[in-house]
Order: sequence, then structure tokens, then C-alpha cells
Amino acid sequence: MVKAVVGANWGDEGKGKITDMLAQNADVVVRFQGGANAGHTIKNKYGKFALHTLPSGVFNANTVNIIGNGVALNIPILVSEIEGIVSKGVPKPIILISERAQIIMPYHIKFDEYEEERLAGKSFGSTKSGIAPFYSDKFAKIGFQVSDLWDTEENLKEKIASVSVQKNIILEHLYHKPLIDVEETFKTLMQYKEMIAPYVCDVSSYLNDAIKEHKTILLEGQLGTLKDCDHGIYPMVTSSNTIAAYGGVGCGIPPYEIKQVISVCKAYSSSVGAGEFVSEIEDEAVADELRHRGGDGGEYGATTGRPRRMGWFDCVASKYGCRLQGTTDVAFTVLDVLGYLDEIPVCTGYEINGEVTTEFPVTRLLKVAKPVYETLPGWKCDITGIREYEKLPENCRKYIEFIEKKIEYPITMISNGPARDDIIYRKSPLSSH
Ligand code: GDP
Repeated sequence: MVKAVVGANWGDEGKGKITDMLAQNADVVVRFQGGANAGHTIKNKYGKFALHTLPSGVFNANTVNIIGNGVALNIPILVSEIEGIVSKGVPKPIILISERAQIIMPYHIKFDEYEEERLAGKSFGSTKSGIAPFYSDKFAKIGFQVSDLWDTEENLKEKIASVSVQKNIILEHLYHKPLIDVEETFKTLMQYKEMIAPYVCDVSSYLNDAIKEHKTILLEGQLGTLKDCDHGIYPMVTSSNTIAAYGGVGCGIPPYEIKQVISVCKAYSSSVGAGEFVSEIEDEAVADELRHRGGDGGEYGATTGRPRRMGWFDCVASKYGCRLQGTTDVAFTVLDVLGYLDEIPVCTGYEINGEVTTEFPVTRLLKVAKPVYETLPGWKCDITGIREYEKLPENCRKYIEFIEKKIEYPITMISNGPARDDIIYRKSPLSSH
């Protein structure tokens, strides 16, 4: 059975923890989109880890971890992540890389840096990981697939030279930076080949066999619906599709095999980088306190360390986020963090040009949307360690049930701490199973 674990918000919802938890019973964990531009934070018996490229199943010795064709593959980062976890005592994980995955080239990272430099204050807040230039090249059909590393020296050099022609014009005349050197790029690619040779295979075939053998396969999404290139807050989005529907494309399996979509929703909101964020907390002191208490050790980017922008739970964005994911289950995370609040505002509608809506709008209208809040009483205690839904304080259950009603998707898992076993399973009245 194939399940997807994806984000319903702006990313950083705690997908890493939920995937790590579900990966204990998974035969295979797959990354199907995105690159090393965002990260999961995972806490388990080996310690605390920030994973950027590796699937979250790497902590389970028997789980096969797959990098699908949809991923933007940064080979040096992947290899240093493998070395990083092994050096902390994690057994060497089983990893397979799609021969159809494309490679982040050294010049993709440079182009990202140079473009941010050129745009200065008007930038997209890129993490400068080369993701946007990578996906641009992929769709312009001038990318390099992993399998190209096994092409002849002559062919590969010819391809690098041909791609360099147009890139060098931009490097010289727009950015005034050093040009791409064909020999040097070829040498780098040969180093990449050596680094990943043990892992490369036909991932689609492998997964289709695994499906026939009734293996449990987890597709692990990066970021969340609102950062999806088509359905998110364009242009302040990532350059790939973050929704479960892309899962089939990004690893080569049929879409109808994805039977369960677990959308991870955080009990409050946070967002990294620029872009519309309707329920953002305006009072800096209030935001700062939530940021400081949030997640496990504060709401700061796993990859960049940037402080995240903080907001109250947004039912409009989350209902939309869950719908686009095709949610069968909501995992509601980081609820324990809210235990300090007397009252908790929840954004239940957007006022746009004098009218209140609960439908998430396009970016043009999002820019003028004002949040409509309802305030719920807090529960004023620490809920970590609770394992049964009925044992949660009444106001905490009311908060969950209020949000479930507003987003219209079943909350079947509640995460009340960063560790694997900090989880409460719940039977939802909205559940179909
Ligand atoms: P991801 O990219 O969606 O995995 O999100 P992050 O890596 O930013 O995860 C959010 C942070 O919250 C991480 O530091 C997690 O360890 C932490 N976390 C996840 N679930 C919970 C939870 O239920 N409670 C608390 N306190 N922290 C959590």
C-alpha cells in the first residue's frame, strides 16, 4: 500500500516527525520532489537530525530509502548527509537513487546566488540551493539526468559545452561573473558519478515490484500545499509540486496506488521567506514568544537557521491545503506548544473587499485579504506525555474539534511532542475508515 505524508500549510509542519514515526512500519520511504532547500528535523534514539535530501526512513535499518526522479539531486549534500548520520552511530542506510533524477549542477547554485544578488531587496527569498535554475533547465530540456553520467566522455563534454553557450552569455553580460569551464564541469560530474554509483537504479521498476509484493511504501513530501508551484502563493512558491498528486510522477508509480494521504497541519502557523501570510501575528512580542517556544527548540529554519514568520492557525489556508492534497487523514502537530496561552485566536475567514470568505483565493486577492478571528480558550497546562485523546484537557479537545469542523478533514493523529511516540490516535467523526 502506498501512503503519502505531505504538508497542508507552508512547510515546517512536522512532516519529518510523522514520516519518521510511520517509517518504522514502512518497507520503503520515497522522496518525490524538491531538493536540499528545506529540511526536516527528526529526533529519535540516535539524536536530533536535520535531513535535507535523505528520506526519513534512513534511521530504520530495514527500510529502503529512495530518491525519486522528481527530486532536484544535490549529490555532494546527499553524500555528506549519509556520512553525517553514519558518524553519529546510525547504521548505514539502504539508499536507491533514480537513474532519471536530475542533478543540481554547480552553476545552478551560482545562478541562484547571482540572481538574488541582482534582485537585491526584491528577491524571492531563495535559499540559494539552485532549485529554481535547476527546474528551469529541467523543463527547458537542458538538464542532466543521473544516467547521463554513464554516457561517453565525448557526448557528455559536448552536452556541457552546448548548455554553456547560452549560460555564458548571461554570466558575462548580465551578472559579470566567471564563465562555465567545460573541463572543470566534466571533472566534477565524474566525481559525482563515483559518489552515487552504488545507489543508482531503475526506481520505477523497483517500486512497481514492491507494490505487487504488497510492501508498505511512504511518499514523503517536502514543504506544503501553499508552496506548490501551481496551487500555492505564486510566485512566492517553490519550483516543484508539493502535492501528493505529484507523488506518482515523481517516482514513477500509478496515481491510483496512493491510497492514504496524511496531511500534516501544525496547530499554529509559520512561514519562511517572503509571501502572503494572512494570519501572521502582528504584535512582534507575541510572535516572538510563539517563535521561541515553537517546535522543538524554536521556529528557525532547519536549513538556513532563518527565524520563521509566525501566525495563528489558519482554517481557510488549511482547508484549501488539505483539499489540494486529497487528504484522507490530518496529523495535527505541535499542539503541546500552545499550552502557555490564555486564549488562542484562530483565523476562520478572510475578509476580501468587504466580503468574508472561507475559500482560499488567488495571490492577487490574498494581498488584500484581512484575517477574521475567533478566539478559543486555552488549556493552560502541559499535554506532553498524554497518549489517549479523552485524557486531553477539555479546552484542548475543543480546539481540535473546532478546527476539524472548519477544515472539514478528519484529524486522526495528534502530535504532542517531537519524539516518535509523542502521538495520540483519534477516531474522527469525519473519517471514512
Ligand atoms: P518538517 O519540515 O515539516 O518536518 O518540519 P520541521 O522540521 O520544521 O519540524 C518542525 C519542528 O517541530 C521540528 O523541530 C520537530 O522536531 C518539531 N516537532 C514535530 N512535531 C512536534 C510536536 O508535536 N511538538 C513539538 N513540541 N515539536 C514537534
